[in-house]
Amino acid sequence: MIVEPGSTIGIIGGGQLGRMLAMAAAQLGYHCHVYAPDEAPPAAEVAARFTRGDYADEAALERFGRDLDVATYEFENIAAGPLSALTRQTQLHPPRAALEIAQDRLDEKEFVQGHGGRPAPFVPVASASALEAALAQLGTPAILKTRRFGYDGKGQVRIDRLEQAAGAWEAVRGAPCILEALVEFDAEFSILLCRSPSGEVVIWDAPRNVHRRGILDSSTVPAGDALLPAIAAAETLARRTADALDYVGMLALEYFAVGEEALFNEMAPRVHNSGHWTIEGALTSQFENHIRAICGLPLGAVERVAPRVEMRNLIGDDGLARRDILADCSAHLHLYGKKDARLGRKMGHVTRLVGAT
Ligand code: AMP
Repeated sequence: MIVEPGSTIGIIGGGQLGRMLAMAAAQLGYHCHVYAPDEAPPAAEVAARFTRGDYADEAALERFGRDLDVATYEFENIAAGPLSALTRQTQLHPPRAALEIAQDRLDEKEFVQGHGGRPAPFVPVASASALEAALAQLGTPAILKTRRFGYDGKGQVRIDRLEQAAGAWEAVRGAPCILEALVEFDAEFSILLCRSPSGEVVIWDAPRNVHRRGILDSSTVPAGDALLPAIAAAETLARRTADALDYVGMLALEYFAVGEEALFNEMAPRVHNSGHWTIEGALTSQFENHIRAICGLPLGAVERVAPRVEMRNLIGDDGLARRDILADCSAHLHLYGKKDARLGRKMGHVTRLVGAT
């Protein structure tokens, strides 16, 4: 079904991803209605309408859904009940099944394994004694990760010695977890894929990603020749995953490269921070193609437009260096309009096109 320009797109979540989605949608002539619990979220500032509501408020989500032509999300932790209230009213892309799988690290890994992917060695953990057994099996160092509600390194505890097990279990407050072996990777990269309702798939150049304290610091394309075999394998898995879910919209899969092998880390059924470089660095951005896909429009070409593109997140007070950034004519500055520059908070990003003529 084609959602014509002039229609209204609902966006659940009001962060910077929603902001950039709403800007891309406006360019194509759509109106956006943002739903988020915060008072003045970054996306609301650039959207036609904003509803402040809790992600668990079924009645509010049902009302929100009534005036929409299509809905999407930039935030993943919406429970199944409230989501049904929304899908009773309007179509939702990407599909609900993808959202539910990505909400749970164990389901996500098992799903990807079912399609031929290989995650880092892991063991599900549901009790303190299970954690000890898992540590005996995987060894140290390892990372204990809550199955649900983790992002940007939250809900994760590194365990270097067996004696730290009890403290780690306390730190996750006994939430269902997985224990994962620490991977000595050569690099991290992600696959950014967009799929249309008719099954058309586009994949951008895979960025090489560097994380600091669990938060994405930079994404660079091209990722380098050494990663090409791992990237090719990861792309095959991403396509298979998207087709299996009859997926519509942006899908990001994160990987560890170990030699020629790609170890699956996690997936995000939405636009992704490692794809911000596509706004200026590719013929069509991840945000525009997501909007095109969920509205049933043809997808745009995704070729890179410069020999090298680097995206760096501005975290905490990094954004204060904006004069230097603006003085660099290859740099594109994005600020998200957030008021307080808290430690670890993503305030903006800068994309540099290197070697462009
Ligand atoms: P995650 O939230 O699982 O994507 O973790 C955030 C970041 O922490 C990853 O991008 C890696 O840099 C690091 N990390 C997570 N899990 C592992 C692992 N099993 N081995 C090594 N590094 C990891």
